[in-house]
Amino acid sequence: MAKTLRALPVSELAGKRALVRVDFNVPLEAGAVADATRIDASLPTLEYLLDAGARPVLLSHLGRPKGEVRPELTLAPVAPCLEERIGHPVHFFGRCEGDEAVARTRELGEAEILLLENTRFLPGETTNDPALAAGFARLGDLYVLDAFGTAHRAHASTAGVAGLLRPSVSGLLVDTELRALGRLGDAPDRPFVVGFGGAKISDKIDLLNVFLDRADVLLVGGAMANTFFAAQGLPTGRSLVESDAVGLAAEILDRAGGRIHLPTDVVVTRDVGDPVSEVWTVPVDAIPEGAAAVDIGPESRQAYAAVVGTARSFFWNGPMGLFEDRRFAAGTFTLAEAAADATAGGAFTVIGGGDSAAAVRAAGLMDRVSHVSTGGGASLKFLSGGELPGVAALEQT
Ligand code: ADP
Ligand code: MG
Repeated sequence: MAKTLRALPVSELAGKRALVRVDFNVPLEAGAVADATRIDASLPTLEYLLDAGARPVLLSHLGRPKGEVRPELTLAPVAPCLEERIGHPVHFFGRCEGDEAVARTRELGEAEILLLENTRFLPGETTNDPALAAGFARLGDLYVLDAFGTAHRAHASTAGVAGLLRPSVSGLLVDTELRALGRLGDAPDRPFVVGFGGAKISDKIDLLNVFLDRADVLLVGGAMANTFFAAQGLPTGRSLVESDAVGLAAEILDRAGGRIHLPTDVVVTRDVGDPVSEVWTVPVDAIPEGAAAVDIGPESRQAYAAVVGTARSFFWNGPMGLFEDRRFAAGTFTLAEAAADATAGGAFTVIGGGDSAAAVRAAGLMDRVSHVSTGGGASLKFLSGGELPGVAALEQT
């Protein structure tokens, strides 16, 4: 087990420069932060550090600048956004290593935060260059890993620097993720129900494999269901079908047997992009030639919600339909509500995936499920039983 920030005595924090690797890989629009979810996710750790009298110095990547300075991927717009949310001064410095950056970390006053520039502007970040890791190590007196979303990558600002600074601990966000995902590991409370949707089976095959044998029931929706219909020889009209994955879908159906549930009815429309195109419901064996399935139907929604209601553990990844269009959001929102109700009844519920999290947020239910996971690739690797290099490089207890 990695040592955690909460286990450090205040004497190891007060007045110290805490180098924190956060995940501020946020969407920007017109030079401003368009969605602050990831910034908010960092607040518990940053507030904890400030309360203990530490001086947070923040490192993050943003986008894929591929080792070059790309002005449109500067982290500068994050500073005012973080400052507003945390209510303490946040200074920004346009580099993330070197003497001047180090000097800035030493100038930090009480209850002040320093945000440094995009780590991926430097080629050594993603190659985990030891010299760069050593440069990062000069920026702090201790290291905190709170970027769960990149913990599965051995980069200079994660595994590299984590091995060089002591203390070197996990932050509150990483702890929360590890604890929540750990509960879905070897011995989840049963019945364990898993919901899968979204666009592609091939994107999710590793995650499907993780849960295929572990889950008591698998509920399938979204465009993914269409590929299963195709595997059953049903007509799918103009629905989004992943033709390369039809064989894979057939294998999964075989392997899961009666534990896999597919929709019995679907919402269809002729022209997905046309806001006034007719929308109606058909049984799954009657998808018209000229129409596309865009959501699970009312009968399926009710059946799925009832199954979720029996769960003691529930994991869900992938929307049940094209929920970005509110006409096709009912299946996704019904499942989100069923998850919230199950949580209220004592079940442990985890939502994974960027679009799924966005759907739960759009339904206003973020606070009514047990956990919304922030890290796609990292969650997957951890759930598959793999080691996260960023976490493994921390001090172990
Ligand atoms: P996540 O990000 O949660 O892992 P995915 O990226 O796999 O989820 O899939 C989300 C996308 O799948 C959404 O943008 C949604 O519109 C799309 N989708 C879901 N169902 C359908 C469908 N029936 N037809 C077309 N697109 C769909
Ligand atoms: Mg997605």
